Amino acid sequence: MSTHSMVRTRMAPSPTGEIHVGSMAMLLKNYAFAKKHGGKFILRIEDTDQTREVPGAVERILRVVKAYGLTWDEGPDIGGPYAPYTQSERLPLYKQRAEQLVEQGQAYYCFCTRERLEKLREEQMANKQQPKYDGRCRALDPAEVTDRLAKNEPAVIRLKVPKNEQINFTDLIRGEISVSGKDIDDQVLLKTDGFPTYHLAVVVDDNAMQISHILRGEEWISSTPKHVLLYKAFGWQPPIFAHVPIFLNPDGKGKMSKRKGEVSAQSFLDNGYLPEAMLNFFMLLGWGHPEQKEVFSLDEYCKYFDPADISSKSVVFDLVKLQWLNGVYIRTLSESALFEKLKPFIPSDCSPELAKRIIPLIHERLAILSEFEILSSFFYRDITVDPAALVKKATPELVHEQLAKTIAALENIPAWDEASLETAIRELQEKNDWKRRQYFMLLRLAVSGEAATPPLFTMIETLGKSVTLERLSHALPLSF
Ligand code: GLU
Repeated sequence: MSTHSMVRTRMAPSPTGEIHVGSMAMLLKNYAFAKKHGGKFILRIEDTDQTREVPGAVERILRVVKAYGLTWDEGPDIGGPYAPYTQSERLPLYKQRAEQLVEQGQAYYCFCTRERLEKLREEQMANKQQPKYDGRCRALDPAEVTDRLAKNEPAVIRLKVPKNEQINFTDLIRGEISVSGKDIDDQVLLKTDGFPTYHLAVVVDDNAMQISHILRGEEWISSTPKHVLLYKAFGWQPPIFAHVPIFLNPDGKGKMSKRKGEVSAQSFLDNGYLPEAMLNFFMLLGWGHPEQKEVFSLDEYCKYFDPADISSKSVVFDLVKLQWLNGVYIRTLSESALFEKLKPFIPSDCSPELAKRIIPLIHERLAILSEFEILSSFFYRDITVDPAALVKKATPELVHEQLAKTIAALENIPAWDEASLETAIRELQEKNDWKRRQYFMLLRLAVSGEAATPPLFTMIETLGKSVTLERLSHALPLSF
């Protein structure tokens, strides 16, 4: 445990685009850990890189987090004791802190031009060295610095990394980490435009907002030594860090990225995954329930989750498992609740009344809401029947006879309901001694064009008399 008196976690997205599913999974971990300890979960917007900002992204971030059913205790929209929670509204704080470090001799002004830095970088790359600032402005004469600043010469403030020190920290998932100061760049803290870099802002804010634990993606681990140095320079207690492995693409190859399909958290909802199923799926990735349960609630997760139990190996974003889990959650919904959730997915040529009748017929097989259309279109759209499939298991003569006799029987059926249809069709099958499997499959194919459908008799009832007879008659000549 950190020495902070209360557990306070945060998610600090940058508004540079849509939230990635991996970030949403990370957000969930921070949320759950705070809840577990009766602490607070904070949402902070890190918008100090204005060149990468995408208009409207902040609103979309807040909206999608809510759509996943997660909330924050303090944040840009609701404020809190450490407001504001948007970095661009906190600029004076960072500047003041950067200047404090200069005064303390732990940071320095650097006047190197972009051209010089670019050239340096190219040289280092050509010599197969890791590109790093060479420290030219580290030891400038203070009088010269004052003079150049007075002349408004553009300057950044850089961290004066102690090159002969080891920087150590403990990662909850990876254990002890030690990095030599020699390998750490003199990181820019404050840019020429007065904006902080991520490294300065994140430390200043995590400290100001009393963040006790930081759970973030492993891509940030190389930044952490810089942050640890900053905490030390300011004399602050660093939070506890846990760097969580990132997701691999569903095919197991490489970091989950756009090139292999949709990755935004929103796109999964848009495609018909339920937020509850998504959260449950995130919970299972790289972590196991103590009783090996696979389906459990957010509350239960919050009770058991411990970042120290997160696997240090990358996990595959297993779409097959996600679809299975989504189906499980869909099956727990009542038919009316499912109807509500399906509304955006019901095509305009299927009336709401018909959709309500179809729902119970496909409820069991529906794994993603967007599958409604493929599972149900034969109810409200013309079908194509594959003639070869009709005669796969019987001679054309027999198929013709079966269809003709079925049409005759159904034309005269006393009532068009599941029970009467079942009686009539079964009677016909028994009387003629037709193979049940073959005959039922024939009817299924003839009325729907599909081999996998809802139960035969309810399906025929829902299709209605005229459509059923029309489709059977249409199939009649196809058998030859
Ligand atoms: N603003 C960073 C991001 O976009 C936050 C990284 C961190 O959690 O420290 O993910």
